Amino acid sequence: MSISENIIKLKEELPKNVTLIAVSKTRSVDEIKEAVKLGMHDFGENKVQELIDKIDCFDSSIRWHLIGHLQTNKVKYVVGKVYLIHSLDSVKLLKEIEKRYALNNLTANVLIQINIGKEEAKTGIYLDDLPELLEEIEKCKYVKAKGIMTVIPKGNYEENCNYFKKVNDIWLKLKNEKYTNISMDYLSMGMTHDYKAAISQGSNMIRIGEGIFGKRNYNNNN
Ligand SMILES: *Cc1c(COP(=O)(O)O)cnc(C)c1O
Repeated sequence: MSISENIIKLKEELPKNVTLIAVSKTRSVDEIKEAVKLGMHDFGENKVQELIDKIDCFDSSIRWHLIGHLQTNKVKYVVGKVYLIHSLDSVKLLKEIEKRYALNNLTANVLIQINIGKEEAKTGIYLDDLPELLEEIEKCKYVKAKGIMTVIPKGNYEENCNYFKKVNDIWLKLKNEKYTNISMDYLSMGMTHDYKAAISQGSNMIRIGEGIFGKRNYNNNN
């Protein structure tokens, strides 16, 4: 199916409260433009350099989401450029974001990325470390946490639902508490192969790459 057909089908299928992010990593500007024509305005990238290169090719109506791991030394490049950073996963990164956004007198909107499967190969904070991060966010002046993001371990539908439910439980618990600088507006979970399970467990933001643009080809240095 074409990019257009995939988007139309997804949009028909998704509940109205779910934001669809088209994950455009490794994709060309022309492919992204095809998606924009179909009314897409949220795009996700996982590498800072690729993100910065692409942003300049589009007007400010596009909302860019940084969904990949963010190294502290790259924070300065994304200040003021992204709608949402999905990958806050340490106090160290939080402090760098606070510092860089303060220098520009801008507010960073971030999601806390949780490594719910405790997979060493994946980024995201472990649950044990979450209270300390929340405490530090409360002290910030230039960072607002808007929700939670997760990438779960590979598994079948039922296993996916179990992991997503755990994250939704945390999200709801935090939503019901009164924190400074923290509001649980977004629950970013679900990719091409698990978004149905994610939505069944309360996701309101899904990140779809291959399900929109087709299989990725990593051979050309991406
Ligand atoms: C690549 C990526 C996606 C999209 O994955 P697909 O399987 O292509 O839908 C979503 N989230 C993150 C964090 C990614 O890196």
